[in-house]
Amino acid sequence: MIPSPLIGALGALALLAPATAYAAPAPLASSSPTPDRSADFFAGLPKGGDLHNHLSGAVTTEFLIELAADDGLCITTDTTTAVAPPCGPGTRPAAEAVTDSAFRRQVIRAWSMQDFPADGNGHDHFFATFGKFGEVTWRHPGRMLAEVANTAARQNQFYLETMISPASGQARDLADKVGYDPDLDSMHDKLLADGALDTVVRRARADADATDTEFRSAAHCDTSRPDAACSLPYRWISQVGRLGTPERVFTQMALGMRLAERDPRFVAVNLVQPEDGEVALRDYRLHMRMLNYLKSRYPRAHITLHAGELVPGLVKPEDLTFHIREATRTGRAERIGHGVSVLHEDGWESLMRDMADRRIAVEVPFHSNEQILRVSGDAHPFATYRRHGVPVVLATDDPGISRVEITDEYRRAADTYGLDYPELRDLARASLEHSFLPGRGLWNRDVRTGYRPAGPCAGERQGNGRPGERCAAFLDRNLKAQVQWRQEAAFHRFETTHAHTTHPGNH
Ligand SMILES: [Zn+2]
Repeated sequence: MIPSPLIGALGALALLAPATAYAAPAPLASSSPTPDRSADFFAGLPKGGDLHNHLSGAVTTEFLIELAADDGLCITTDTTTAVAPPCGPGTRPAAEAVTDSAFRRQVIRAWSMQDFPADGNGHDHFFATFGKFGEVTWRHPGRMLAEVANTAARQNQFYLETMISPASGQARDLADKVGYDPDLDSMHDKLLADGALDTVVRRARADADATDTEFRSAAHCDTSRPDAACSLPYRWISQVGRLGTPERVFTQMALGMRLAERDPRFVAVNLVQPEDGEVALRDYRLHMRMLNYLKSRYPRAHITLHAGELVPGLVKPEDLTFHIREATRTGRAERIGHGVSVLHEDGWESLMRDMADRRIAVEVPFHSNEQILRVSGDAHPFATYRRHGVPVVLATDDPGISRVEITDEYRRAADTYGLDYPELRDLARASLEHSFLPGRGLWNRDVRTGYRPAGPCAGERQGNGRPGERCAAFLDRNLKAQVQWRQEAAFHRFETTHAHTTHPGNH
């Protein structure tokens, strides 16, 4: 039984009549367009789904200021941190950041990478922003989701996986009460005792219901003029703070994975907070063992992990040599976030071969990597991953803090790495193929030679408006394929519109 709030998440597609669900086909373009570097081209390009997106870091700083002002919050004048009212000495009403342009600039700089000096410590500034605007974001996940989903839809994306920390207070309290037990099986039993973990699961689901209600209201989903966000399927990934005590880390992991099996709105877990933090480094292998154990208890929960968001100098050399491999092996990650330090891993070529063979995708946010790690251009392993057949998907990470949009990531792939239109199209396809959407996809899973249609829709033009009976039945049963079909229809329209900008071999 699907809970009714889920309609917002996947219903928009499922509820549409076939005639509108499958956009009418445009005539095939005679040749494929290649990037002409125009804003129009990149804006219009279909861009799959965003698979690496932290909800609180994804909304614009201007939107956070608006929320803070609406809630009557205050902002400290020294560290520019949002705090609850009343606004005592050393604070100003957040509303003043709407009207006072100097104060507004101060807040935008403190809560994002705006104007951040190229020689500054971007890593510390970036991660510190979350603590500064944290008082704002926990109050309005639904309004933030509407903002982020509208932005994704406007950029011609078709799907969103966004990260939150479900019922984090309740999970923390339970962890602290139970304490740590190095025998993970017994630790898990203690969490389950007296239905304690299930009480937290219920709380997380109730919060998700409330978020959904706020989202639908903010995006006008139940009016005659719904926002684009209302037809964008989305899923939650549960964050686990890797700087916590072992009991808190384990409890958040168990909660996220139990949620993923109990509630279809939740799909996966991911470790967050700086990978180079003292506790994150000390407990790295322990965290992987925890995930390994919990995956055996929750085999249907997905795992994607921030791993290799590191550079020499940030950590001692040894810490650069094993994180990604451990995440893909012991941690059983199906996707890797960042993977920037891969070339420092022991046996990195065999690691890449293994990732290619097992179809473990790397989520790449170019701008975040540049701002936090100062890695870009040739120093970034993007091209090396691709050469070794490792699936790569472009993602935004924290576009609000980075002050970018997914379109900027695709533009970077074209401008810096010379990707042509078919390659950009494959990146977009990869981001849906490697999503945690349920059901089967449209493509042959062995995609090293490009995306080849497979399954009941293989004999048809992908995305066509009137799929045959077997294909239509397949699309109805498989949400992943359904979302992919929508994107293929968008590619046909795009190729028609941009056929005149074709410049064969323009790079
Ligand atoms: Zn991230």
